[in-house]
Amino acid sequence: NLYHLFESRFPADRERRFLALEDGPRRGVYYTYADIDAVSARFANVLVALGVKPGDRVAVQVEKSAENVMLFLAVLRAGAVYLPLNTAYRRGEIAYFLEDAGPALVVCRPEDEAEMRELAAAAGVPQVATLGVAADGSLAAAGLEQPTTFATVPRERDDLAAILYTSGTTGRSKGAMMTHWNLGSNLLTLHDCWGFRPDDVLLHALPVFHTHGLFVGLGTVLLAGGSLLFLSRFDADAVLRLLPGATLMMGVPTFYTRLLAHPAFGRAQAAHLRLFISGSAPLLADTHRAFQERTGHAILERYGMTEACMITSNPLEGDRIPGTVGFPLPGVELRVAGEDGSVLGPEEIGVIEIRGPNLFKGYWNKPEKTAEEMRPDGFFITGDVGKVDARGYVHIVGRAKDLIISGGFNVYPKEVETVLDALPGVVESAVFGLPHPDLGEAVAAVVQKHPGRDDLTEAAVIAAVKAELAGFKVPKRVWFVPELPRNTMGKVQKALLRDTHRGTFA
Ligand code: ATP
Ligand code: MG
Repeated sequence: NLYHLFESRFPADRERRFLALEDGPRRGVYYTYADIDAVSARFANVLVALGVKPGDRVAVQVEKSAENVMLFLAVLRAGAVYLPLNTAYRRGEIAYFLEDAGPALVVCRPEDEAEMRELAAAAGVPQVATLGVAADGSLAAAGLEQPTTFATVPRERDDLAAILYTSGTTGRSKGAMMTHWNLGSNLLTLHDCWGFRPDDVLLHALPVFHTHGLFVGLGTVLLAGGSLLFLSRFDADAVLRLLPGATLMMGVPTFYTRLLAHPAFGRAQAAHLRLFISGSAPLLADTHRAFQERTGHAILERYGMTEACMITSNPLEGDRIPGTVGFPLPGVELRVAGEDGSVLGPEEIGVIEIRGPNLFKGYWNKPEKTAEEMRPDGFFITGDVGKVDARGYVHIVGRAKDLIISGGFNVYPKEVETVLDALPGVVESAVFGLPHPDLGEAVAAVVQKHPGRDDLTEAAVIAAVKAELAGFKVPKRVWFVPELPRNTMGKVQKALLRDTHRGTFA
């Protein structure tokens, strides 16, 4: 049981602080390691009382809070399977997840209870409980009636600990089945690779329904016996205020661009930190450089996905190279393959395939989908396109599904985006393919300009790209947008862009 692993590394002094709430109605409240043990035991007892058995799924859609963390740990302790849902999901989406996962219990925000009861009844989910940000809700109330001890249910390495739905960037979200050892092995590796120590304090402003904030953020700190400064959401002012008390921060790239946009952010605020980590979406090399200039810190970029937790990381000691995601983690095998599965050499671009103890057990309820993404030798086809350079650093150039085939030629969006991003007046861009009667697909782009750059026109952008790239790579249309469309994890929503502009050439 992953909880046993966490528990085995709790500090000897259980009164040490684990998590401090830094915003919201309970700002100033903190939880010690003794509290983890007691509160997660209370919640685990509630789960059992509600009829949750080992192996049952517990679906959770609540706002980020300390109790939410305790509930996650309680589900592990009860031997059940934790299934967090993005807080932004609405009716139709929740209905799908409940149908698909068949949980024994769904925990929701107190204000959503009536609606959730309806959805649960429709999906045949027997129990509904609530949990609020003020340590309120039926689950919290029931916990107070329960003992503060619980005998953690033994689990095998291969038993499920969690099902996390993927972000749905390339299609409908799939439930990735993660075992206790998928997570345990990966977290131990990250703990070592990133040099975690008991005195580490992680500034945590990520959501906890996703691999990044839930496993990577909480898990590494638990294994170190360290502590967390907990923000319910990213807020640049709050982060600036808290940074001097932190030794680490983990973020999605937008966190770093927003910090850089804050005029008060500089060396002084970052001086106490030992490490800034970025992932979940590509960090622009420009952002990396600007951050280093402003703070003296080279952001450590790493790459992972719901199906495998973390896969590669730039080194703690050694060069953290902008625009790369570093080396495969110890124990993780990574190769780049062509369409037919042939393994490619250094510098050759293809689809990234991986294998290791971190690799998931498959997609929940989707054996065919799982089989489709696996090679016979057990490598998983990630769907990310990239290469390994001569020094062994992995580069991601995009997703196989975003590859544009225009007039029979392959266009990697990243290559065009890199040229666009380097143009004076351009903040950022996203390149995507649109159906085209002649070409099959046509290259198109949206561009965010620096304020006041009205002189930068579509024609000027197209001309500038033409000077640098072969004609078939040059966007046929460029639209200016105030901001690229992103989801909560900072991922650019290319499917949305394709939908919006679908009819352009048709
Ligand atoms: P879906 O699989 O449902 O389409 P998704 O792949 O976005 O959605 P996640 O599992 O949340 O769902 O995200 C994993 C993906 O995020 C990776 O496959 C990769 O494309 C991207 N990613 C993660 N870290 C990085 C990084 N450092 N640089 C570039 N891309 C990254
Ligand atoms: Mg994916």
